[in-house]
Formats: sequence, C-alpha cells, structure tokens
Amino acid sequence: MNGPDRYQAGLAGLQLPDEWQVDVAIRPRRRSVGIEVKPGGTVTVLIPPTADPDQVVRFVRSRRRWITDKVDTAARLAPEHPVKALVDGAEFDLLGRRYRLQLVTTPPAGTGQLPAATADRILYVRAEPPGQVRRTIIDWYREVGLAWVKREGRPYELDGRIEGLRYEVRDLGRRHWGLYRGMPQHITALHWAVFGLRVHLVEYVLVHEQAHATRPGGRSHGSAWQRRMNLWMPEWRQRQAELAEVGRHCWLGDHQERAGRQPAAQ
Ligand SMILES: [Zn+2]
Repeated sequence: MNGPDRYQAGLAGLQLPDEWQVDVAIRPRRRSVGIEVKPGGTVTVLIPPTADPDQVVRFVRSRRRWITDKVDTAARLAPEHPVKALVDGAEFDLLGRRYRLQLVTTPPAGTGQLPAATADRILYVRAEPPGQVRRTIIDWYREVGLAWVKREGRPYELDGRIEGLRYEVRDLGRRHWGLYRGMPQHITALHWAVFGLRVHLVEYVLVHEQAHATRPGGRSHGSAWQRRMNLWMPEWRQRQAELAEVGRHCWLGDHQERAGRQPAAQ
C-alpha cells in the first residue's frame, strides 16, 4: 500500500461515522496534518507526504469532537437554492416585497414598457424563452438594487469619509454576497440576489462592504473593521448569522427549462 491508501486503512480502524465521508489528500507543501470540512459536510484529512500513518490516526481521533461539530454545522448550512419555473404566478422577492410574475406580449395599461412592476405587486415580463425571461428578471433586480445601494450607501460615505466610491450590483457567484474592491477601483459591489432577502440583511451586506471601503488598518475583518461595524450596526453579528441561515434559500437565478420538456433518452 502506498499513497492515500495506507492512511485510509489506518482511519478505517477508527470506525468514524459513515455520514462523514472521510477522504484523505496528500498535500506536498504541508508540514502538519490538517482537517477540512467542506460545505455539505465532506471531511478531508490533509496529510504531508512524510506523515506517519499512526500519527495521522492519532490526530484524527483527537479531533473527533471538533469534526462532529463542524460536520453538523456544514450540513445545517448546506445551500438549498431554489430552482424556479419562470411561469405565470412564480413569486419573486425584491427588497421585502413579493411580486408575482405575469408573462405578457404587450405592456399593461398605464406603464408603456416591459418589464413593469406595478403597485399591486405584479411583475410583467415579455413572454420569451425562459433564459431570456431569467435575464430580464435579473436585470430588474440589478437596476432596482443599484438605485437602492447608491441611496442607502451615501450616509456611510459621508460618515466614514469615503470619497469617490462607486457601486455595482451584479452576479458575484455562489460564495460572496458582497465585496469591496480596493484602490484604484474603489467599488462596493453587491450580488443582485441579495436584494431577494429581507431589507435588514441587504443593509448588513452593504454596511459590511462600506466598512471595508473606509479602509481600516489591520486585517480584513480585524479589530479596526469590527470597531466600524460596531459603530454603524451594533447587532451586525446577529444579522451575519441570520444571513448564513436564510441566504442558503435565496434564489440565485437557477431556473427550469421549458415546462414539460424531458431529457433526451440517449
Ligand atoms: Zn468582508
């Protein structure tokens, strides 16, 4: 036996719970054994090439309690983003309001254009293939979100003496709700999907990035940044925890293809 197998054999003797899905990975640049728990709960033991299998087994055994906690948290926080059917009646949340989609061929009376979100919370979108409807809806989030973020971000610019800041609302993938890009860009960017969450969580993401934009000294989320957060949003830690929980149910733009279409049986 060589490579990962000899470590796997040792770990098998520990009789770890099956649901842990323990993997081993040889990491040439590591000096010590480590353990990584991925979102969803996969456990990877990171092993330097020279490690003694007995030492690895002892290490994992000593961390059993820690792994249990991490796997529980990872499983609890695993993402479950909805996949929406973009059909009449589909619901979309934007800044705390819920809209129902209505696919139409002409703008509703009194609006003159598409898409149109009306006071009775109907979102009228031109009837087109789902991919295009999706793009139209995301553009609507981006447009409404950008206007919001420019308005709501302004008081923090003034209070934090932030000058020349720009804003973006766009797709930031599946790992970030917001980010601040430092000089020379100097941009606070929010994910369009954030605007599907309740407003106090959108505010948290904004304030988090505005605090970065004041360019506090020290580490990225270090004490200077935290002081700023405590000043601007004393309960930011609760909102951060709530975002981790509810954010995993947030719509990230996943949609069903045309209703009734079956995968080809090849
Ligand atoms: Zn940050």
